[in-house]
Amino acid sequence: MIPSNWYNIVPDLPSPPPPPLHPATRQPIGPEDLAPLFPAELIAQEVSTERYIPIPQEVLDVYRLWRPTPLIRAHRLEKSLGTPARIYYKYEGVSPAGSHKPNTAVPQAYYNAKEGVRLLTTETGAGQWGSSLAFACAQFDLECQIWMVKASYEQKPYRRSLMKVYGGTVHASPSTVTNAGSKVLADDPDSPGSLGIAISEAVEVAASTPDARYALGSVLNHVLLHQTVIGEEALAELPEMPDLVIGCTGGGSNFGGLVFPFMREKLAGNLRTEFRAVEPAACPSFTRGTYAYDFGDTAGLTPLMKMHTLGHDFVPDPIHAGGLRYHGMSPLLSHMYELGLFTAVTRSQRECFEAGVRFARTEGILPAPEPTHALAEAIAEALRCKETGEEKVILTALCGHGHFDLGAYDRYLAGDLEDFTLPQERIDEALTHLPG
Ligand SMILES: *Cc1c(COP(=O)(O)O)cnc(C)c1O
Repeated sequence: MIPSNWYNIVPDLPSPPPPPLHPATRQPIGPEDLAPLFPAELIAQEVSTERYIPIPQEVLDVYRLWRPTPLIRAHRLEKSLGTPARIYYKYEGVSPAGSHKPNTAVPQAYYNAKEGVRLLTTETGAGQWGSSLAFACAQFDLECQIWMVKASYEQKPYRRSLMKVYGGTVHASPSTVTNAGSKVLADDPDSPGSLGIAISEAVEVAASTPDARYALGSVLNHVLLHQTVIGEEALAELPEMPDLVIGCTGGGSNFGGLVFPFMREKLAGNLRTEFRAVEPAACPSFTRGTYAYDFGDTAGLTPLMKMHTLGHDFVPDPIHAGGLRYHGMSPLLSHMYELGLFTAVTRSQRECFEAGVRFARTEGILPAPEPTHALAEAIAEALRCKETGEEKVILTALCGHGHFDLGAYDRYLAGDLEDFTLPQERIDEALTHLPG
């Protein structure tokens, strides 16, 4: 059953996350600072201390197109691994855009439309968020302009097409449409782009256009809030409670969305579940980043957020899991990581594709490159269980399908995919540019 509320974990945490700061005054920002970018209802959700927030009827009506999503036990994967572990996955790839992103795109478009906004701007990495927002804008008659990271724009032409089919306008980022993009291109005409740069471009246009607002597909509290439909459904559907929940983290929204309802039960003493985030070795914000105030974008237009960051001008190598190429991390999850509420590990590109192929050959679903990180970790855990004989119950979010990522699978099968090593000097260098 589709839940009727989103779950806000903030009031259940032992301490609240540090507030975002105004870049000039270094004081906590107020709603008026965010008003040029977001509608009032989303700003209220961003800072809400209410435990439950009702999902509007208009949003539920759209959710009903694909929710509740299937919760599946991976019997065939378990069998191929010969593991006593039981692996469950919540499959979000059945949404119109093929990922979990419409769970937040739809309410974001709804609240903007309700408050009279005409145009939504955004960035997209792999194109999952851009196509989700373009779909959501089509539902509520909004215009949609999308800055797509150039590396993905070139790797994934069909995601671009899908955004256009839904009525969106797509720019390759860095673009000459904005000052932020032009500045990056002047320094590096061959820049592959990054989510940080694309955010700068979308924010610049929203902030300078009166009836336009900006929408972000991850990182912020209201985004993770909307994604809790994943975990609430899973909690109600599972025939047994998980010992371990694993999710991939780019900005943290599918992980937070799956984990928070289980974390609520754990914090209340009802569960002993452990939680593990998996990030790409090429963009390891939790495991190799620093916990500090930093900008959410490259140009420094956003408020300062305290988060695990690799530095706002860090440009990750062009791995195919475009949705995980973000320098920062959800401030809420970063705070929870500092509180020791979950752990994080990294996986590199080739072992992830290997896991994706194994999953496709057993379970039949072709995973997006992002959730193959969680699958690689789930498989490694299941193989550990094979050695110890432990009948662990593992849950993961299969947060998207990979039908638009077949070029990357082709390269993997041809042996052309590389694993990038990330030298410490590159991280150190980017961290010297943190706002003091
Ligand atoms: C965007 C995306 C991600 C990364 O974003 P999170 O906010 O960390 O979930 C992961 N997987 C898929 C399929 C995505 O579209």
